[in-house]
Amino acid sequence: TEKIERANANGRYFWSFEYFPPKTESGAVNLFERMERMKSLGPEFIDVTWGAGGSSSEETIKCVTTSQVAIGLETSMHLTCTNMPLEKLDWALERCKEIGIRNILALRGDAPRGVETWTASEGGFSNAIDLVKYIREKHGDWFCIGVAGYPEGHIENNDKEAEFAHFIQKAKLADYVVTQLFYEPDLFLSWYNRVRAAGIEIPILPGIMPIQTYAGFQRLIGREKTFVPAEVLAALEAVKDDDFAVREYGVKLAVEMCEKLKAGGHKGFHFYTMNLEKSVRQILQGVGFVSAAVATANTEE
Ligand code: FAD
Repeated sequence: TEKIERANANGRYFWSFEYFPPKTESGAVNLFERMERMKSLGPEFIDVTWGAGGSSSEETIKCVTTSQVAIGLETSMHLTCTNMPLEKLDWALERCKEIGIRNILALRGDAPRGVETWTASEGGFSNAIDLVKYIREKHGDWFCIGVAGYPEGHIENNDKEAEFAHFIQKAKLADYVVTQLFYEPDLFLSWYNRVRAAGIEIPILPGIMPIQTYAGFQRLIGREKTFVPAEVLAALEAVKDDDFAVREYGVKLAVEMCEKLKAGGHKGFHFYTMNLEKSVRQILQGVGFVSAAVATANTEE
């Protein structure tokens, strides 16, 4: 975003928070209160995801309207191609324009739950590049467009070279990149160097997902086939029956990862909050991005 570029150019550290749209009315109220509280942590911008399979589009629009207009957070809305015929894409982009949202993370999306292989909707797009091109053609420079990057490669594509080439082609048309989560900073750093060597100069934000629960973490790495260093697996195994200790370890690991990325010269960090705030607060404090007073003020979790 313009904001991301500005922050990057200023050479200061910055961070963004990702949320997903809750399914219920009370869940939405809780999330909005949380976003309001977390505003004091100074995110450069926040993201709201687009429901898997194109579901919950109304909920996403409602969330971004509240975050952008009522709470006053610079908001980026995710938008996917899954189950999105052109009219529905147009509808979503028009809503964004009306409420003043200028940042879109353009994605292909995953197949809806229970469906194995991804297929394009009739008259819709089959990959993120086509969506980026469409948004640019239709809306010029109004939207600042982000795309997803995969430090370990996208799991669907076994041809790693072709996958990397697709990503570079996509990044050339975009304004910024947010990456898939990872637990081995060296994998991110070597991918990042390759991306820069391929001539991509836009901001690239590493995606940090604090480990919240042992079961959730196992599900996630199983689904994404994420590489996890043996010492991380061993440390988690040792505390797996103690939810508090698992979360504490998740914070410690995320702080260590951020430190390593900082040492590698990185300034911007994207946090997958899972709509929770405690871990993110502790990580920001641990890395020294916010003071203890800011990290612990106005919190409810
Ligand atoms: P693409 O860049 O389109 O790539 C998809 C696959 O197609 C890749 O394997 C690629 O190599 C291949 N490919 C691309 N172009 C071509 C071509 N021309 N020819 C042949 N093959 C090609 N999902 C949601 O449903 N909602 C969200 O809000 C959401 N947010 C996300 C945020 C981030 C930061 C990330 C990393 C992922 C997110 N996802 C979300 C998941 C994402 O939609 C999936 O990972 C999806 O499988 C790929 O999306 P993409 O935009 O990266 O796809």
